[in-house]
Amino acid sequence: MPELPEVETICNAIEQSIDSPKIDKFKIINNKLRWKISGNIPSRVNGQVIKKIYRRAKYIIFEFDHGCLITHLGMTGQFRRIQNDYTSHKHDHFLIKMSDDNIYVYNDVRKFGSIHWSANVDKHFLMKNIGIEPLTEGFNSRYLKNRTTKSKMKIKNFIMDQKIIAGVGNIYASEALFLSKIRPNKIANKLSKSMCDHLVKSIKVVLRKAIKYGGTSIKDYKTLDGNSGYFTQKLSVYGLDRCKCGEKIKNVKISGRSSFYCPKCQK
Ligand SMILES: [Zn+2]
Repeated sequence: MPELPEVETICNAIEQSIDSPKIDKFKIINNKLRWKISGNIPSRVNGQVIKKIYRRAKYIIFEFDHGCLITHLGMTGQFRRIQNDYTSHKHDHFLIKMSDDNIYVYNDVRKFGSIHWSANVDKHFLMKNIGIEPLTEGFNSRYLKNRTTKSKMKIKNFIMDQKIIAGVGNIYASEALFLSKIRPNKIANKLSKSMCDHLVKSIKVVLRKAIKYGGTSIKDYKTLDGNSGYFTQKLSVYGLDRCKCGEKIKNVKISGRSSFYCPKCQK
């Protein structure tokens, strides 16, 4: 599933590739996504100018004067950019044709993605309970210590909880815990102040580095131009057999998700 760095990469790629931000035509191809695509979307956005494209948590937000399109890539959602006539691919769901001839086509094999229109993005049901953005100043060791003190969750589940921290999923939770030398099954309220400090820094380092490398391609993730993300080569534990210290990496299930850690480096 695309996480913060992959969504940020796609957001930036779309924004940078648009010459003229006016939408010529929004076309629904197959409305069956996680939520049925509303038939009202074309009339809201056709002829309108996109003011800004940005990421919030794992959502891509297209902002207009009168509201926003909120897109989630689900498990297998991909945007591809074409500049000629549209030729349909299996699993295409909608396309956005810009007045500059760029066409952005959303394709989703497993159909867990979504697109909604909202006049007020912060109050939308998908957005209103989302936690802090990890790359903001507000996400610091004081914030994490405060929140972990009251929690009996395993720390990996804790940092993946979208109501607490936005955008961190299985890959980057595993990588950040490795970098901060903390085992994924440690109980949140057992983290010391210095562990919280270390973990905050590690989450920021891992996410920034992953953005720099265009995200991680494990299965389906592709950037806008069809390339893979190069952070895959930079992973330390996720999906790997052996740690750089030589120890065999453990893969345990935590809440049903594969969780990788090095028993020697992480205590
Ligand atoms: Zn190790």
